[in-house]
Order: sequence, then C-alpha cells, then structure tokens
Amino acid sequence: MNLAFKNYINNFKERDEKMPALFIGHGSPMNGIRDNEFSQAWAKEAKSMDVPSAVLVVSAHWLTNGTQVTAMDFPKTIHDFGGFPQELFDVQYPAPGSPELAKQIQKEIRTTEVALDHEWGLDHGAWTVVRHMFPKANIPVLQLSIDYFKPAQYHYNLAQQLANLRKKGVLIIGSGNMIHNLRMVDWKNIDNNYGYEWAEELNKKFVDIIEKKEHSKLFNVPELGEAGKLAIPTPDHYYPLMYSLGLQDGKEEIEIFNNHCVAGSLSMTSVKIG
Ligand code: ZN
Repeated sequence: MNLAFKNYINNFKERDEKMPALFIGHGSPMNGIRDNEFSQAWAKEAKSMDVPSAVLVVSAHWLTNGTQVTAMDFPKTIHDFGGFPQELFDVQYPAPGSPELAKQIQKEIRTTEVALDHEWGLDHGAWTVVRHMFPKANIPVLQLSIDYFKPAQYHYNLAQQLANLRKKGVLIIGSGNMIHNLRMVDWKNIDNNYGYEWAEELNKKFVDIIEKKEHSKLFNVPELGEAGKLAIPTPDHYYPLMYSLGLQDGKEEIEIFNNHCVAGSLSMTSVKIG
C-alpha cells in the first residue's frame, strides 16, 4: 500500500467528536447559484463544524428500488431539471467520491443489501447545497439512494444504522423539503418568504414535533391531517427528513434554521442535529 492511499483510509478513523447531521430544505435549484439567506446559512453551518472526512447526502432526487450508494472515484454533476438558465447548467461540482467509504456504508447497513452504484453521481439535491458548504470541492461526496417502495419509518430505521459514520467524520445530510407541493407553488411569488395558511401552520407543527423529539408522529402522513396531504402529495422530499431525524441520539441538541415557507407551498426549514 502506498503512503497516500494509507493516509486516505486513515481519514475515516474514529474521532473524539462526532459530526452533526443535517436536514436541509433545498428548495429551488436556483439556490445552487444564489447568494441568499438560505445558501448563506448552509455555508455558515459548514464553517461551524469540524472539516468532515466525507459528506453523505440522501437526496430527494435519487429514488430507487432498493438502496444504493455511489461508489465511483469521481461522481459527475447531474443537471436533473429543466427550464432554468444556462448558468445553472454550466455548474460543475468536481468533488471526488470514495469507493472505500461506499463499501463501509454497505457493511454498516445490515437490514438490507446496499448496492454499489457506478452510474449516478451528484444530483441537484446534493450539489446545489454542498457547493455552498464546501466550495473547494475537496471533500469526498457520496449519495445514498432512497428506496421509494418503503414507508417513512423504514427510512428512519435505516438511518440509525449509519450512526457510526458520524464518529468517523462523515457529515450526513438529508436534502429535501418538509413542505413540497410543486403544483400549488405561487410562481409569481417564487422568491417570497411566505406560505399559505396551512403551510405556515404545518411548518410550526413540524418544528414543534422535531423540538420535542416526537418523531413517531411523523411516520404516518395522513395523521398530519389535511395540511399534511397538501404538503406531502408524494413523499420524495419528505423521506430525507427521516434519515436526518433517525440519526439523532437521545440527548443531542437540535437547532432549527432557515425556518421559512416560500412561494406558498414550500418550506426551507432545516435542522442541525448535534
Ligand atoms: Zn428538490
């Protein structure tokens, strides 16, 4: 084994302090190139923590049958959207991957078989956020897919098996939106921080439940009432929250940030755990 390779593996050694875990409301892909209160808060979070050994993102935009983890040396930047300015399509985020860490993740998850992926890369749920946090693109970034055929609690339980990675310097980010109804978006007010009445109410309810650590109240969307049905017409942007909350250790503190609804039917509300 050459020395460089040895140092690289050592990066995933146990540390004294475990890394926080984040849930990020990513909102519009345009946040990837905007310097606004949301992207500034993402950057601020990154500066407030130790430099991670790697970043693992569970993005709302990688839905699969079964669970996969990206395992290539150099994940490509995926522009998985349409109707946005060329400037956004021109963005590249050339962070390396980590096949070693991908294999480790495969081992950590015992309740299902995790497949190593060599096709995906970094979708906009990952890079629009991470490029603000780590602009040098010098930290390995991996993605874990969401098995879209499984319910919320399954994802919550799966996340618990990733807890060891936090001790090894891995920053785990669930990237979605707690409230995400694209059909109801008020396009005229796309950049305005306001939510419809039901959205503002549900946003408060989410914060309250998360602050009280009553996570089981979040497992069944119908139990969130009419607002829940409007906020979560499909669970793609909701499931990443399950990963972040599943990583909370009983005594750990949480911090809520970017606590806003935008464009009526979206929320940017984000959570830092630990
Ligand atoms: Zn999205």
